[in-house]
Amino acid sequence: MLMDLHCHTDASFDSRMTVERIADRARARGLDAIAITDHNTFAVARDLPTEPQDGLYFIRGIEIGTERGDVLGLFIEQAVTTRDFCRAVDEIHEQGGLAILAHPFKWTRQVAADSLRRVDGIEVYNARGQGFSRWNANALARRLWEMRPELIPTAGSDAHLYSEIGRGRIECPASDESGDLKALLQARNNPRIHRQDSSLLTETRSQFTKLTKRPGAKQLLRFGLHLARTGVWTLRGPGKIGPDVLPPAIEEAS
Ligand SMILES: [Zn+2]
Repeated sequence: MLMDLHCHTDASFDSRMTVERIADRARARGLDAIAITDHNTFAVARDLPTEPQDGLYFIRGIEIGTERGDVLGLFIEQAVTTRDFCRAVDEIHEQGGLAILAHPFKWTRQVAADSLRRVDGIEVYNARGQGFSRWNANALARRLWEMRPELIPTAGSDAHLYSEIGRGRIECPASDESGDLKALLQARNNPRIHRQDSSLLTETRSQFTKLTKRPGAKQLLRFGLHLARTGVWTLRGPGKIGPDVLPPAIEEAS
């Protein structure tokens, strides 16, 4: 079962993709499932079919921007209304969903042990997590998961453009045809991560989409800030795994 667990439709402020074309592209790329995870909205994911469509499953999801960075809610039933990290994770769990730390170290410098205790999984590969500005974000996310192997590893393209769909994907061997994708991820039965890094320009292109969807001085300023932030991030270099996250053995070795 090949899954891309992070994708944005036109319900997100920085994407113009429709579900129909996303589905076409996902099938063409050989995906069996794709998660729709719009920024802070469940407007499109809510109406996704629960049965596979021409062999493609949809996973209803959301990406919540919180004070501790972005959190993916997968297999949810309704919108998550809060922007508070702890409450968002609780809301996802109350719906029976999985809470995943989205691209840790991409825009956040540290991950606290408390965050790891609360979530179900870590996005160990995000196709937009590479590029010279955040050159080690995926490596750090991977290392974080190796310290907490009891958590579920996930992977996604974080696609905002059709060309990105399927660039980050996880392959989970399915032992039955039940289509219980949540159980499949939770089983952590030798999942394989497929990587295909997106160029840094893709991020700038979706920032530009934001500008064209909501034109005005405010968005123009934000676009400028994005370019400045990317530059600063490039100069700052790698983030860190918080000292409270390191298990004793690794702490002693460093
Ligand atoms: Zn995203």
